[in-house]
Amino acid sequence: MSTPVVGRFAPTPSGFLHPGNLLCAMIAYLSVRTRGGRCLLRIEDLDRPRCPASLVRQCISDLNFLGFRWDGPILYQSERTSAYLAQFRRLRETGQVYPCFCSRAQLHASQAPNRGDTLYVYPGTCLTLTPTEIRQRMQEKDPAYRLHVPDISITVQDRIQGPFTADLVRNPGDFILRRADGVFAYHLAVVTDDAESGVTEVVRGCDILTATPSQIYLQQLLGFPTPVYAHIPLLVDANGRRLAKRDQAVSLSALSKVYRPDEILGALAASAGLIPEWRPCTLESLMPLFDLRRLPRTDLRLPEGFSGTSPV
Ligand code: GLU
Repeated sequence: MSTPVVGRFAPTPSGFLHPGNLLCAMIAYLSVRTRGGRCLLRIEDLDRPRCPASLVRQCISDLNFLGFRWDGPILYQSERTSAYLAQFRRLRETGQVYPCFCSRAQLHASQAPNRGDTLYVYPGTCLTLTPTEIRQRMQEKDPAYRLHVPDISITVQDRIQGPFTADLVRNPGDFILRRADGVFAYHLAVVTDDAESGVTEVVRGCDILTATPSQIYLQQLLGFPTPVYAHIPLLVDANGRRLAKRDQAVSLSALSKVYRPDEILGALAASAGLIPEWRPCTLESLMPLFDLRRLPRTDLRLPEGFSGTSPV
C-alpha cells in the first residue's frame, strides 16, 4: 500500500498575499489533491512583530475567497515554540550547536564588499570560544545559537528544477538555529513542522531551493524523513518584473476588487501553462489538467492585461 500524499502551503504573512504566493498555493494544492492526498495550511508567523494578526486573518480569508479548503486544523508557527525547543535541545545534544555573540554590525563588517550574489558565510568567529569566554559573554548578552556544519555536500532531487547540490560549509556555513531574542530560525521550524505534520511533498517558490540542502541536513540529524521537493519558477508580471512583497506587488485584496476568484485562478493557471489562454477556472476544474511534470523551469509570466488596476 502506498503512503498517502500530504502537501502543504506555508505562507509568511508579513505582507499581503500576491499572485506569486497564490500560484504556489495553487500548484501545491493541485499536486496533492489530484492524487487523493491531503493539503495542509501552515501560517509561518514565527516572527510575531512582522506578522500582525490582521495580516494573518487577511491571508486566511484571501485563500478562502479563492476556494482553497484545507485538511485538518491550521497550524500557527507562533504557537509551536515548545515543539521547536524540543528539537533544538536534541540538536544541542549532538555537540554541534554553539552560542554566537556576534552583533549585526560585526557580521556586516565580516562580509566582503561588493559580494554581489554570493552567499554570506559566517566566518566562525564564535566557534572557538572557550567555556570561560562563553560564560563571561553570557553575562553581557544573550547569544544566538548556530549549528556547526560538516564538510559534506547534499543534493536535492527537485521534481521541477532537477538535482541541486550544495557544499554545506559554503552554503550556508554554520547557520542560526535560534536568534538572540529567542525566536527559532526558519529552517528549524519548517523541518520540525513538516515532519510532525507528516508532510511528504513540499511545493514552494524556487527562491528557497538554495536553502533546501540545509533543511535536508537538519532532517538527517533529527532522524526525520526527507519529503519530495518541487520548487516552482518565479512568477513575473507581463513585463517580466518579479512579483514580491517588498516590490509592492499587487495584493490579492487589490485584485479581488477588480476580478472574480475564477478569473484570478484562470490567470494563474494560464501563467503555469495549465490552460493555453486566460479564462475563468475553479480549482476543481483544473484538477484533470494538472501535471507537475509539465510545469516549465523558466520564469512564469502572468497573462497580458492582468493587473490589479485595470478591469478585464
Ligand atoms: N514561508 C515561506 C514563504 O512564504 C515558505 C516556506 C516553505 O514553503 O517552506 O516564502
